[in-house]
Amino acid sequence: MNKKINKIKVLFLSAEVAPLAKAGGLGDVAGALPKALIKLGVDIKICLPFYGLINQHKYPTKKIIGNLAVPMGNKKEMIDVWRAWLPKTKIPVYLIKHSFFNSKKIYLGKRLILKDKYTRQANDLKRFAFFTRAALATVKKLNFQADIVQANDWHTALAADFIKTLNQQDSFFTKTKVLYTIHNLANQGLAKPNIVGYTKIDPNLEIIKVDARDGDVNFMVQGILGSDLINTVSPTYAKEILKHYQGAGLDNILEKREKQLYGILNGIDTDFFNPANDKLINQNYAKKTLEKKLDNKLFLQQKLGLQRDKNTALVGLVTRFVWQKGTELITEKFSKLNCQFVFLGTGDKRYETALSSLAKKYPNKFKVLIKFDEKLAHEIYAGSDIFLVPSRFEPCGLTQMIAMRYGNVPLVRSTGGLKDTVNNQNGFIFKKFNSVEFYKTLQKALTIYCHQPKIWRRLQLNGMEQNFSWEKSAKEYLKLYRKLSE
Ligand code: ADP
Repeated sequence: MNKKINKIKVLFLSAEVAPLAKAGGLGDVAGALPKALIKLGVDIKICLPFYGLINQHKYPTKKIIGNLAVPMGNKKEMIDVWRAWLPKTKIPVYLIKHSFFNSKKIYLGKRLILKDKYTRQANDLKRFAFFTRAALATVKKLNFQADIVQANDWHTALAADFIKTLNQQDSFFTKTKVLYTIHNLANQGLAKPNIVGYTKIDPNLEIIKVDARDGDVNFMVQGILGSDLINTVSPTYAKEILKHYQGAGLDNILEKREKQLYGILNGIDTDFFNPANDKLINQNYAKKTLEKKLDNKLFLQQKLGLQRDKNTALVGLVTRFVWQKGTELITEKFSKLNCQFVFLGTGDKRYETALSSLAKKYPNKFKVLIKFDEKLAHEIYAGSDIFLVPSRFEPCGLTQMIAMRYGNVPLVRSTGGLKDTVNNQNGFIFKKFNSVEFYKTLQKALTIYCHQPKIWRRLQLNGMEQNFSWEKSAKEYLKLYRKLSE
């Protein structure tokens, strides 16, 4: 029998795909999950906007479609499609070229804090709605009739609605099902009613399922209500978002789809994040040569202008500096602890400023780097002893898993995917979102670090021994695809 007949065909839509274009965890997932799926026999193709920041020397591209018309409102916009490959794989990444994406930034939208909780991406709504529509036009042109479209986060949440609209025209997508994956419920893609006309880029599209709040159009609500199945990125977060306190205003809407809502824990790209052969770090090491990790710590201390001292714990943190991540729990009081801190991230000014002023006041203790820097992130994973993730909420969280792979002991708040990956055999956990509890837990960790080296080594090894590869989770995704194709 020809095996190919049974291959499930998947179109994977994402606003970020690592290493081509990444701003956070979404990029990591989109760069790694397809690699694990192809190994399971899935025929998967990825679509990504052709951002100006994509390095064409590093990732060679080839134009495969010129001048394809994509409906937009009552007009048509022309796109070209280029093809890159997901590095070291046979997975094509179709890059949608249009002036919308020429910028060197992935996201253009100004982030506004709404009621301290919700973010909106006004400039980006049109760009990503168009990208989603253009991706469907592309695969149709290429005659790739996907069994499943996997749409990710608010950016591509309109996939199901577009497909319904297209099915009124011809039968190309009539067998296509949509899996909608929520990586972060807090970023919803909200459009004020006065820009609805602007987001309604297909005149036939029934986009206006109005959200209860202020009559906004909400891309994520469209995805949740319109898709065939929904999943999120950890079992705990899948439960949490049905509750008012973590539902980001959508708990009632999610409740309607509870039976179709699954939680699948993210993995990490264990090839890319591997201390044994990571080219971005100073000294490679593995479980058996863990003592070599120390060279990375001394290297990092020197690079940052901290005192080189193998006995002082180095406490790392790599994150987006936004409300979700809880960095405001780190206060001046932490300067009393016997350790050094290194924080890497970018985000909202108020968090950047608060942390930078700590660094200014205590230059021997705190180092704060405000930038996105993949190499420095790897150096921090390799050089730190303790790794902080004090999030208010965390859909899955990748940094704690990466940190464990590099022999850090994570200190996290008990929420979402952090709860599913960290326990007292491999890390430290605090429950209540407050600075006092966080401080106490860090103090406890430092005591063990200083006085109980054997226990510390065991915690490190337990983390390193955990299997965070995508293999297991990819099988769970395959189960959902099969369920949809039945
Ligand atoms: P989120 O998706 O909410 O940003 P995750 O923990 O899921 O958080 O994923 C964050 C990813 O982005 C990790 O790979 C982390 O190393 C990376 N990252 C975050 N901020 C930076 C930065 N400033 N420089 C380099 N890498 C970063």
